[in-house]
Amino acid sequence: MTAVIAAKGESFDTQVPLLIIGAGAAGLCAALAAKETDVEAVVIERDAVPSGSTALSAGLIPAAGTRFQRAKGIADSPELFAADIQRKAHGEGDPAVVEAVAKGSGPLIEWLTDRYGFPFDVVDNFNYPGHSALRMHGLPSRTGQELIDRMRSAAEASEIVILTERVAERLVAEPDGRIRGVEALRGDGARERIGCEALVLACNGYGGDPELVRRFIPEMADALYFGHPGNRGDAVRWGEMLGAQLAHRGGYQGHGSVATPHNILISWAVIMQGGIQVNAHGRRFCDETRGYSEAAADVLRQPGGIAWDVFDARIADVARQFDDFRAAERAGAMVSAETIADLAAIMRVPAANLQAEWNDVEKLKTAGDRDRFGRQFSPAQRCMPPYLAVKVTGALFHTQGGLAVDATGRVKRKDGTSFPNLFAAGGAAAGVSGSTAAGYLSGNGLLTATVLGRLAGEAAARQVSR
Ligand SMILES: Cc1cc2nc3c(=O)[nH]c(=O)nc-3n(C[C@H](O)[C@H](O)[C@H](O)COP(=O)(O)OP(=O)(O)OC[C@H]3O[C@@H](n4cnc5c(N)ncnc54)[C@H](O)[C@@H]3O)c2cc1C
Repeated sequence: MTAVIAAKGESFDTQVPLLIIGAGAAGLCAALAAKETDVEAVVIERDAVPSGSTALSAGLIPAAGTRFQRAKGIADSPELFAADIQRKAHGEGDPAVVEAVAKGSGPLIEWLTDRYGFPFDVVDNFNYPGHSALRMHGLPSRTGQELIDRMRSAAEASEIVILTERVAERLVAEPDGRIRGVEALRGDGARERIGCEALVLACNGYGGDPELVRRFIPEMADALYFGHPGNRGDAVRWGEMLGAQLAHRGGYQGHGSVATPHNILISWAVIMQGGIQVNAHGRRFCDETRGYSEAAADVLRQPGGIAWDVFDARIADVARQFDDFRAAERAGAMVSAETIADLAAIMRVPAANLQAEWNDVEKLKTAGDRDRFGRQFSPAQRCMPPYLAVKVTGALFHTQGGLAVDATGRVKRKDGTSFPNLFAAGGAAAGVSGSTAAGYLSGNGLLTATVLGRLAGEAAARQVSR
C-alpha cells in the first residue's frame, strides 16, 4: 500500500545518504552520477533482478551533438533537438526541463561510453517521426535488455548497493515535505525502514495501475499495457499525498504496431521506410508518419481494434536490426506473398480495397506527392515483391504524466516551490511530451530517464551532508 506517514517519532533500521527507489535507467543513472561525487547511493528495487520498462524498450536514446553523429557527418544541436521536442509536444513541455535534457543528451551518451564502456552508435538507416536529425543512439543488439544489463554492471562495478526484492510502500516525511526515509516490504515479508538525507523517485509511472490509467488516460483504459507491470503509480500517489504538483497526467507513449496475438513490438521503421497501415477492410485510416504514439488509439478505434502493417522485403531487411522484429518472424507473425491480391487473401481483407490503397500509395511515391491524410511520400520508399504484412494492435507503453520537476529533477509543490530533498526522474516525473499521446517524440522516455536521472542524482548528491 502506498502511503505517506508523518516523521514524528519515526526510527529507522539503517540510515543512508541518498536513497533511490527503482533500478531502471533513471535510478541507475542517478546512482552512478551520485557515486561519482563520492556520495553513497542505495537503490531499492521490487524485482529480484532489475529490468523495468527499460529492459522492454528498444534502448534507443536520442542525443544531439555527439561525436558519433559528427563521425557520420550528421549536423545536430541541442537547440534543434529542443525545438523538435516542443514542436511534437505543441509547446507544452516545461522549457527549462526541455532545454536541460536536450543539452544533457549528448554528454549523457559520451559519459556512458567513455566512463562505463557502453558501445553506442547512431542509427543511420532510418529516422523516427519528428526528429529533424538522425540522433537515436543504440547498443549493438538495439535492446533495452542490453542497456539495463550494462547499467547494472556499471553500478555493480562502482560498488553501488542495489537492494532487490524490496517494494517501497511508505514515505516518511516531515510536515513541510522533507523526506526522512522509506519503509519497504522485503521479499521475505519483513519490513525495513531506511532513513535518508535525500530521495530520488525513479519508480516510473502508472501504466501498471489500471485504476490510474482509467482516471488519467480513459482512451487507453482497456488497451494492452506493454510496459513493466511493477510500475504502479507509487510516485504519483505519494506526490498527491505530499501536495506535489502533478503535470500532463493524460500524456503517454502509446504504440500502434504491436504484433497480435504475439505481443511483439514491430518497429515503426516499417512505416517510415514506406510501409502503410490498413484496417480489417483493407483501408488506410491516417497519416501513419505523424508518430507511433498517437497511432495506438487510432488503431484501437479500427474494427476489432487491429490493423495490418504492409511493407516489402527491403523494409523487412531494415527492421531486422531489431531483435523484436526477428522474434516476430520466428513466431510466425509475418505473412508474405508475391502479389498484393495474394497477400490480401492471406490477411482476409478485401483484395480490391487493399490493391486500390496500395496502387495509390505507390503512385504517390513515384510522384513524391502527399496523400489525402497529408502524408508525404518519396520515390526511395517504393516497394517491390515479395510483400509482407503483420497484424498489429495499439498498446500503452508508458505514462508520461507525473511529478512536476525543475531542470535538476527537484519535485515541485503545488505552489511552485520545491521540496527540500525530494527528486524524481524518468517516468516518475512529468515528461517533456505534454498532455497527449501525440506529444510524444520518439525517445522522450529514455531521454528523461537517463539525462534527468543523471541530473537528479547529481543534484540530490549536493543535498547530502559530507
Ligand atoms: C516496449 C517498449 C519500448 C520502448 N522503447 C523505447 C525506446 O526505444 N526509447 C525510449 O526512449 N523509450 C522507450 N520506451 C520507454 C522507456 O522504456 C521508459 O520511458 C524508460 O525505460 C523509463 O525508465 P525508468 O527508469 O523511469 O523506469 P523503469 O525502467 O520502468 O524502472 C522503474 C523501476 O522501478 C521499480 N519500482 C516501481 N515501483 C517500485 C516500488 N514501489 N519499490 C521498489 N521498486 C519499484 C520497477 O520494478 C522498475 O524496475 C519503451 C517502452 C516500452 C514498454
